[in-house]
Amino acid sequence: ALPHPQGHIVFKDVEFGYGDGPLILPRLDLDIPAGQRIAVVGQTGAGKSTLAKLIARFYDVSAGSLTLDGVALRQLSTADLRRAIVMVTQEAFLFSGTVAENIALGNPQASRAQIESAAKEVGADEFIRALPDGYDTDVNKRGGRVSAGQRQLVSFARAFLANPAVLILDEATSSLDIPSERMVQAGLHKLLGADGDSPGRTALIIAHRLSTVAIADRVLVVHDGKIVEDGSPAEL
Ligand code: ATP
Ligand code: MG
Repeated sequence: ALPHPQGHIVFKDVEFGYGDGPLILPRLDLDIPAGQRIAVVGQTGAGKSTLAKLIARFYDVSAGSLTLDGVALRQLSTADLRRAIVMVTQEAFLFSGTVAENIALGNPQASRAQIESAAKEVGADEFIRALPDGYDTDVNKRGGRVSAGQRQLVSFARAFLANPAVLILDEATSSLDIPSERMVQAGLHKLLGADGDSPGRTALIIAHRLSTVAIADRVLVVHDGKIVEDGSPAEL
């Protein structure tokens, strides 16, 4: 068990293919120190999401080892894994229920104050208060409908509340209008602690925006399942 995960991720001689299909990641070595913010870029089909999904353990590696703080991911309990590693996906899915319930998903013991505080931290509080029933608005009811950008903010608030050691984020490619885009970008920066008071979270972000790459400590360029460049944003 990992009572206090630090967020140190190591891929060693990792190979991965989906089922009996071809190897998507032929041989991957990658050491992500605890607290490092990594942006992953590369063309479509390069293997970026596959890499992210391995860390979130949607799949097990086919060969080699993938560890969190020195422990193989496949040896961690589901509870330890969910607590340590959170993945925010492009779809930013909301479940039926209230906005508050959606933020507390995975953390049902969270108090209303903690839920509101997480929403404030990522800049979601204002739009939520403007909904017909505020935090108690049912997201499926008329008037409770939330935009794509707002859904992203709710998923950021959810991740902020969960406060994992490792955050995996597949940045949305879908275009938002400019105000929503700014809102989401600001929320992302806060979630990552990029605005100063760093929560010291390890983060791997599949980045589509230059502004996201710019706030990373390290950028990986992936091509055909291999890391072909690895350096600071300034170097690349
Ligand atoms: P994009 O920028 O389009 O999101 P990506 O870099 O995230 O691309 P991946 O989704 O990791 O790329 O896909 C890498 C390769 O793995 C592609 O050849 C893709 O077709 C294949 N692939 C992805 N998911 C699956 C799956 N569930 N089953 C089989 N093959 C898959
Ligand atoms: Mg992808």
